[in-house]
Amino acid sequence: MACDAPRNPVVAEAHEVDTFHPPQKMLDKHPSKPHLSSLDEYQQLYKESITEPTKFWGRLANELLTWSKPFQTVHSGSLDGGDNAWFLEGELNASFNCVDRHAFKDPNKVAIIYEADEPGEGRNVTYGELLREVSKVAHVLKQMGVRKGDTVAIYLPMIPEALVAFLACSRIGAVHSVVFAGFSADSLRDRVIDARSKVVITTDEGKRGGKLIGTKKIVDDALKQCPDVSHVLVYKRTGADVPWTAGRDFWWHEEVDKWPAYIAPEPVNSEDPLFLLYTSGSTGKPKGIMHTTGGYLLGAAATGKYVFDIHDGDRYFCGGDVGWITGHTYVVYAPLLLGVSTVVFEGTPAYPNFSRYWDIIDQHKVTQFYVAPTALRLLKRAGNQFVKNEMKHLRVLGSVGEPIAAEVWKWYFEVVGREEAQIVDTYWQTETGSNVITPLAGVTPTKPGSASLPFFGIEPAIIDPVSGEEIHGNDVEGVLAFKQPWPSMARTVWGAHKRYMDTYLNVYKGYYFTGDGAGRDHEGFYWIRGRVDDVVNVSGHRLSTAEIEAALIEHSAIAEAAVVGVTDELTGQAVNAFVALKDGNEATDALRKEFILQVRKSIGPFAAPKAVYIVSDLPKTRSGKIMRRILRKILAGEEDQLGDISTLSDPGVVDKIITVVHDAK
Ligand code: ATP
Ligand code: MG
Repeated sequence: MACDAPRNPVVAEAHEVDTFHPPQKMLDKHPSKPHLSSLDEYQQLYKESITEPTKFWGRLANELLTWSKPFQTVHSGSLDGGDNAWFLEGELNASFNCVDRHAFKDPNKVAIIYEADEPGEGRNVTYGELLREVSKVAHVLKQMGVRKGDTVAIYLPMIPEALVAFLACSRIGAVHSVVFAGFSADSLRDRVIDARSKVVITTDEGKRGGKLIGTKKIVDDALKQCPDVSHVLVYKRTGADVPWTAGRDFWWHEEVDKWPAYIAPEPVNSEDPLFLLYTSGSTGKPKGIMHTTGGYLLGAAATGKYVFDIHDGDRYFCGGDVGWITGHTYVVYAPLLLGVSTVVFEGTPAYPNFSRYWDIIDQHKVTQFYVAPTALRLLKRAGNQFVKNEMKHLRVLGSVGEPIAAEVWKWYFEVVGREEAQIVDTYWQTETGSNVITPLAGVTPTKPGSASLPFFGIEPAIIDPVSGEEIHGNDVEGVLAFKQPWPSMARTVWGAHKRYMDTYLNVYKGYYFTGDGAGRDHEGFYWIRGRVDDVVNVSGHRLSTAEIEAALIEHSAIAEAAVVGVTDELTGQAVNAFVALKDGNEATDALRKEFILQVRKSIGPFAAPKAVYIVSDLPKTRSGKIMRRILRKILAGEEDQLGDISTLSDPGVVDKIITVVHDAK
């Protein structure tokens, strides 16, 4: 049956797909109107961004950023050469762009809405206050010996001081290297050593979901093997008694008291590094991605403006942690560059109960909300009774990090957004710096499960992984690459430029390779299928794991699903599914059969799982992504070769899954 099968059997065509236009109610409650008037205007600008990128980005860079020295050359370099540089002679300072220019205009405007772990314990930080605090910490870092170009490790929970630390680094031209404050001492150690950081910023403890996290203790453990770290700056969050190394450890509140509340920003070259950030590690050893100043900031500001339709006076809430790229670009840089208020939420969506996000959105009159599908699946699983708030200011609901199943998309739109807010499913990566395939709120029509159309300057190409040739036209499937450089693309993997070239630029010469599979449908909309390694090939049908998972989730008993391919004598590969059930369901053979039927009905018999394993939880990274490679290894009987699992959020699930698989065999 295989060979004459259509080349893309599992794409949208298999389902009847609805198109959703920007809801009228969203436009009715808009403070003015979206930045673009129509899809036509997007298409015109998009065309300009591809055919005349220098003109397009030169204009935007001057419109959205403030330069202390103007640039002359918008772009040089190529994807082939791996030497892309943007706004070459220009000089600017990130913290000036995020803070000073807004503080000068209106020092009392709220920059940060801090929502502490305990409801009611937060506070607001104005742009004026932010400028003073950033200046003081910048002085402290300088006095600790941090110079332009040095890296500073930040191991901080979601508190306003994390943003202060980012901006204090950039104020003096230092490079921040943020490590998610849920990582173990070993993971922190590896990143501190790889980035050669000499200063670490942390807290005595963190608070998350009602639990305390011993951040300082973890830092102490990590630093046992980091002899080059000379200073640790510790913000007092809980007041816990923590171990102290005299001469190395310094209290934040004591140090900032010594310094004046203004320090001039240090202008840096547009191409000077702004930060390093290690990828989530879904596919293996994390890479230290390096972003530079001008191009990255422009990507953040431009997507903030056009994707999220940010307007003056908006209150923007991104639920991502500052330890991930989503937090970098959309908790910190995009909203602050545009001078609006950003919500910094310390806690979890489940504490004190599953209404927490919705309470925050209501209370702070949030206009844009942005979160990962993993959180949405959790909240959908918890039940609609928790979504009782009106949230009447919401205009945009964003999704990021993984494909969002249509079922979850619709829940987000109908139950959370009450059909009054537009869903933007934003596809991007740590390496792309900002959203690359995404709807523009208020402008782009959307289809549940599709990240829709490319952002300005992004020229997607679908490549046939077998021949390596680009496949032109619509209604095609393959791997996703980009044909042109864009300002916020990563410039290198820190200290490993060859790895950068080999991973992204040498795979298909002249293209940036994303590592993800994708389809372009008959209307030119993009459907992200997940990682290339996650594609399953059954009798010649290339099946997307994301598509099969989306079909499984449509079954009312399933909370989460992960699909992988296993070697099969007959069909080459066979589909195996791991599912976690919603509360109140029991693992029975009858239910397993229903799941298989669900996929047969929804996609076709060729996609039906050959085995279904019911597990209590799936292996996920700390950023909430399903790590399918672990499931593949377990099924292959290679439990002893799981590879780097340091980024797993709960290593305990691995043994439980191994038991389920063994019992079934
Ligand atoms: P590593 O590169 O270390 O394996 P990672 O790829 O998970 O980790 P990130 O940069 O945080 O690290 O994630 C980017 C990836 O997330 C993308 O390549 C894609 O697979 C997935 N992704 C992000 N947004 C979306 C989206 N809207 N739809 C589908 N997939 C998405
Ligand atoms: Mg990746």
